[in-house]
Amino acid sequence: MEPIKVGVISCSGEDCLGGTISRLAARKILERIRYGESVTICLPLFIAGGEEERGFAEAYPTITVDGCGKYCAKRATEKLSGKVTDVVQVADIIGKETAERTALSSRNLTPEHREMADKVAEEIRIKFDRIVEGNFKK
Ligand code: SF4
Repeated sequence: MEPIKVGVISCSGEDCLGGTISRLAARKILERIRYGESVTICLPLFIAGGEEERGFAEAYPTITVDGCGKYCAKRATEKLSGKVTDVVQVADIIGKETAERTALSSRNLTPEHREMADKVAEEIRIKFDRIVEGNFKK
């Protein structure tokens, strides 16, 4: 049986730390922790109307990863494609005040930031495995 692939969609938050951490954590899942089992889309292209992207949340169970309570990734996905399966909100994990700090470039990340990204990635992994174990399919 073909393994279930799960879509992980990060917000593109460029102006706050929560957005930086959400992108880092999603990349960790895609490139290392669940490499080959996860897929993603480029959120700006999705919003701009990429044809393939529009069917994404209809084709895959999805987890959106948002930097803050504005839930841009979740809202865009549900508006343009389909209902998401689960959500991770970075500010719930690292704290609202921390998430609202100024964004950093990857050059300026400290071990503390990497630890935050690890924590968020772990939350995504837990939700990811729950979806796979539940044999959730679209
Ligand atoms: S969810 Fe928050 S951090 Fe992410 S893009 Fe929206 S406003 Fe920015």
